[in-house]
Amino acid sequence: MSTPRSADYDAIADRILAQADRLASCSEGPRDITRTFLTPAMADAHGLLSQWMRDAGMTVRCDVIGNLVGTLPADASCAAGQTPRRLLLGSHIDTVRQAGRYDGVLGVLVAIAAAAQIARTARRVSVDVIAFCEEEGVRYRAPFLGSRAIAGSFDLALLSRADDGGVTMAEAIRSFGGDPDRIDDCSYRGETLIGYVEVHIEQGPILELASEPVGLVTSIAGQRRASIRFAGAAGHAGTVPMAVRRDALVAAAEFVLATEELARETTGMVATVGTIEVAPGASNVIPGEARCSLDLRHQHDEIRDRGFAGLRETAERIAGERSLGVTWTDTDRADAVPMDAELTAMIDAAAGGGLPRLASGAGHDAMVMASLCPTSMLFVRCAGGISHNPAEAVLAGDVARALEVVVSMLHRVEEEASIG
Ligand SMILES: [Zn+2]
Repeated sequence: MSTPRSADYDAIADRILAQADRLASCSEGPRDITRTFLTPAMADAHGLLSQWMRDAGMTVRCDVIGNLVGTLPADASCAAGQTPRRLLLGSHIDTVRQAGRYDGVLGVLVAIAAAAQIARTARRVSVDVIAFCEEEGVRYRAPFLGSRAIAGSFDLALLSRADDGGVTMAEAIRSFGGDPDRIDDCSYRGETLIGYVEVHIEQGPILELASEPVGLVTSIAGQRRASIRFAGAAGHAGTVPMAVRRDALVAAAEFVLATEELARETTGMVATVGTIEVAPGASNVIPGEARCSLDLRHQHDEIRDRGFAGLRETAERIAGERSLGVTWTDTDRADAVPMDAELTAMIDAAAGGGLPRLASGAGHDAMVMASLCPTSMLFVRCAGGISHNPAEAVLAGDVARALEVVVSMLHRVEEEASIG
């Protein structure tokens, strides 16, 4: 049974957008939105969110790393005799520098609003809304700290890492009121979890191009990165004839075009050469060396790996044809993380069916949570696909639709719990 769309959702969506505006003022600077891990700005955000969670009927706690968790407990009478089960909702509340106001925050606010919709009904399932303290990796150059603590995969070696001001992570956690010696306490491992569902702005243009307000994520794309160095011969721009040149930059240029061509011809692939360094780097000198980066992503690891290997062959062919040397160095690799098909199908069915599906090119806490429990993501259309930018924007109607989908899912989870 899907919940009929009511005008209430539009009013609540307006309130969510107003809340996002208020959270935007929780910033390290007065003129932009910058809210990094365990800063006073984050404490300010916790103040507002705690109040909103309580208003929604939840009990609120901050775990020892700094995740804010609102809980809507199952009713003791409903859950009697059954293993208590828990559904997790959430997203992150830290930001990049000079951020927009919806990346992360929107998912937390929609989750709180959705929980409020079921707060007064009988419940067999507990619902936790988690405002993850760290996803972007800004302060300690390590992402997903909050979700890794929750998923039980936090790397304790990070605790001794210092920020730009020389404050170690352990010190930062202590001064925020947490306890770096008990990070394990944050973990939900061993709990009976139904799953984790994250609402997030799309950060890309796919939903906008399809005129769809929301969509379900199939998979979070993996990526491979490489550094490629073409080595030729520097020479005088005025005296070396074209026929005998060994110009490394021209080879790199050919490689950039081949990379673009491959990605354009391969559905779902994106590939970027984001940097080129040329040496010696003078207007009257033939480039003797060109070093470029490659970032290649696809939601299917085999397709990505095939493309990556193909580009390596292409780089070698280009170098061979131009009598250059080439050195290829793999620098990074992360496999794709598929979302849980059953949970995703359940959300779709609860919402009335037919929600569009799309892959995520960006990383999310959901990648980490997928190692803990069935995980699914709902993307909300954002204007122009713009994110990590003050110009981030969403439509109230789209937020209302996301809320409606999540509330429908919560009702469906309850129905299934009452059967099984
Ligand atoms: Zn985000």
